[in-house]
Amino acid sequence: MCPPEIALLKTFVHYFLHLAFPAVIAFVFYRNQWKRVYLILLATMLVDLDHLFADPIFDPNRMSVGFHFLHSYYAIAVYFLLLFFKGNLRIIGIGLLFHMLTDFQDFVLWCH
Ligand SMILES: [Zn+2]
Repeated sequence: MCPPEIALLKTFVHYFLHLAFPAVIAFVFYRNQWKRVYLILLATMLVDLDHLFADPIFDPNRMSVGFHFLHSYYAIAVYFLLLFFKGNLRIIGIGLLFHMLTDFQDFVLWCH
């Protein structure tokens, strides 16, 4: 079990990485079109729809990465390949890989 203040910090870091940090990525790497890029990065959160096929949908003792099909290592390999394309595909790849990193740190670095 996590002490409540650690659980709160963990939740904060999770949503910060999901919602605020993509804005930083967009602003640093795509400054002249950061709003458009930020929206694409946010849209990559749709990969969490694969949780709907799992029972229970959310389990704090289960790592998403390597479990749900859009979080599988095969899927991650595809997201990595997206980086080699130009334009929106690359942005989607960045968003998806960063999403996986967020889910990974959420499980590996913290108590449950
Ligand atoms: Zn996820």
